[in-house]
Amino acid sequence: MLNTLRKIVQEVNAAKDLKAALGIIVLRVREAMGTQVCSVYLLDADTNRFVLMATEGLNKRSIGKVSMAPNEGLVGLVGTREEPLNLENASEHPRYRYFAETGEERYASFLGAPIIHHRRVMGVLVVQQKDKRQFDEGEEAFLVTMSAQLAGVIAHAEATGSIRGLGKLGKGIQEAKFVGVPGAPGVAVGKAVVVLPPADLEVVPDKSIDDVEAEIELFKQALESVREDMRNLSSKLATQLRKEERALFDVYLMMLDDASIGQEVKRIIRNGQWAQGALRQVVMEHVARFELMDDAYLRERASDVKDIGRRILAYLQEERQQTLTYPDQTIIVSEELSPAMLGEVPEGKLVGLISVLGSGNSHVAILARAMGIPTVMGAVDLPYSKVDGIDLIVDGYHGEIYTNPSPQLVKQYGEVVAEEKELSKGLAALRELPCETLDGHRMPLWVNTGLLADVARAQERGAEGVGLYRTEVPFMINDRFPSEKEQLAIYREQLSAFHPLPVTMRTLDIGGDKALSYFPIKEENPFLGWRGIRVTLDHPEIFLVQTRAMLKASEGLNNLRILLPMISGTHELEEALHLIHRAWGEIRDEGVDIPMPPIGMMVEIPAAVYQTRELARQVDFLSVGSNDLTQYLLAVDRNNPRVADLYDYLHPAVLQALKKVVDDAHTEGKPVSICGEMAGDPAAAVLLMAMGFDSLSMNATNLPKVKWLLRQITLSKARELLGQLMTFDNPQVIHSSLHLALRNLGLGRVINPAATIQG
Ligand code: PEP
Ligand code: MG
Repeated sequence: MLNTLRKIVQEVNAAKDLKAALGIIVLRVREAMGTQVCSVYLLDADTNRFVLMATEGLNKRSIGKVSMAPNEGLVGLVGTREEPLNLENASEHPRYRYFAETGEERYASFLGAPIIHHRRVMGVLVVQQKDKRQFDEGEEAFLVTMSAQLAGVIAHAEATGSIRGLGKLGKGIQEAKFVGVPGAPGVAVGKAVVVLPPADLEVVPDKSIDDVEAEIELFKQALESVREDMRNLSSKLATQLRKEERALFDVYLMMLDDASIGQEVKRIIRNGQWAQGALRQVVMEHVARFELMDDAYLRERASDVKDIGRRILAYLQEERQQTLTYPDQTIIVSEELSPAMLGEVPEGKLVGLISVLGSGNSHVAILARAMGIPTVMGAVDLPYSKVDGIDLIVDGYHGEIYTNPSPQLVKQYGEVVAEEKELSKGLAALRELPCETLDGHRMPLWVNTGLLADVARAQERGAEGVGLYRTEVPFMINDRFPSEKEQLAIYREQLSAFHPLPVTMRTLDIGGDKALSYFPIKEENPFLGWRGIRVTLDHPEIFLVQTRAMLKASEGLNNLRILLPMISGTHELEEALHLIHRAWGEIRDEGVDIPMPPIGMMVEIPAAVYQTRELARQVDFLSVGSNDLTQYLLAVDRNNPRVADLYDYLHPAVLQALKKVVDDAHTEGKPVSICGEMAGDPAAAVLLMAMGFDSLSMNATNLPKVKWLLRQITLSKARELLGQLMTFDNPQVIHSSLHLALRNLGLGRVINPAATIQG
């Protein structure tokens, strides 16, 4: 059964549009189950009716014509109950409805399964047969599994239809909305530029071209480059491989021949398709044919064809990268955004970002927030490879994307963009003013840094110190561990830029979703694995070099504070403190006179919440990492878009943990700061101030908004609000009550300027 399922899903996945996909589904499912009829009904959102979209066995002329409301017929029943229905004799069921045009009277038994994608009923998959007999459990399981697997494929094909005009019932290009999760606040109206992962054939989109000859020339060059690579490889391996093994390279070279793949690709280019699209079509057809073969040896050949395809594609992509021009309002769309992609776009042209993978607390989203670029993460349903060049709206407040937006929607969002520009101009005036509430409470606002650009931005916005300098960033952009001297220079730059303001440098926090290319960590559960302090305590040489560099960099400046990430108990803290003292002693022995800087630890693991007092006694300050603390308290991967709606720092359990940390730290007489993304959310910052945090550290982009809001409120009002919200047990109620309370105080403008748009 699994094999059949896999084959069908593979074939459906390769279909060129929704119609073709549905056609394959009904044909293959009928065949596999040995029934007389298989049909797919899809729910049309405009009319709220289940429309017959494809059938094998019923009269094909009724496709697109027969439809039923959710309260009609057996199909409607399956759709509304969201459960399979297995009937021996369908016509005896009270909900049975007869459609003469389908020729249905000849079929007795009925088995229907709902097609559900992300909790939304998309349609119903039905099989019917002549004999009056109940479908058995195995058959029911097959249909249910099939429809669960196909739901995503159908959703994808439907979405592609709306984007490229191949939608159901021939509706043409339409505005469509895709929901992801908020990555960075703000909205953007612009044009999509899709950044494809290198050499991934399956996601190459179709695109038409005008200059056929130039495209063929491009393809020929790519072919020749691959041929050259193959010849070189073959001769390099000549001494290590037997003659028969080397024959593989000859097979590759033959496949590249004009008479084979090359010829087919050129034919498709001549019909107006670009070389990459033509290559994808030809290679995927060959691959599909090989993969469906029963002979294991021939099936294996599919990977050879794929490999050849990837090699040619890599050359074609290299060529395109050199000639790519970015529109003025570029919105980068990618399966997985990477910091490097942001750097590719010329200054001033990048207005928005979309990532299919990752979530609002992925590190690339944190980077986007620091750069102030509206971002949507986790847009899992967006057929991203198909959107290149189309108009898009990115709503980073709600985590929503609109493809081919209507002029009316463009106008509405355009107004929000203009309003935000105005707002940030107004906020710039706050730079020199203190962050002080109406009743005179001073709340120091610090910044999180990592990139070089953060320094200038932080100073522009009037930061009072650095609450978190993520040292892993200079490690990530290198191709080896930076030496003590190199680190010293980088840290010195950071310390002098902010001097005399304090700079809190966190020791290396790699692992989880922060990887070093030259120090790969492969493990099953990276967020529960070898991360942060765990790595550096196991590698004291890395830790010692880093702390020595930090200490030396602070010579004469004395504004360094050291912060330890991912501490789960006193044993780790003691070990780390011991190493720092060792590094300090060594430096003093070398004759450099540096006072011991304040040392603090991050509270980001639940265990640390319950040991705050014991831990606080051993350090000079605490800093809460609410990003990880939320993920670990709620057991929600901060990177996983599937559970992104469960990730919530206003969850009552998180609020209680934060309050406990503040109270316990203060009982021990130690200051406590917070440097997770929550501190940069203006509404949440009101609650953090009320809890008693001694400073808030956030990305520089959000700092003016937080300052504006805290200057408009009294501490006593904030405390009253916190007291009220902490009695609620439902995160949604906490969100809406908080936003409503701030709006009622006339403070809504920095929370969400796009709140009233209904797309
Ligand atoms: C945190 O976990 O809240 C934090 C600030 O650290 P990072 O986001 O770098 O893991
Ligand atoms: Mg963290």
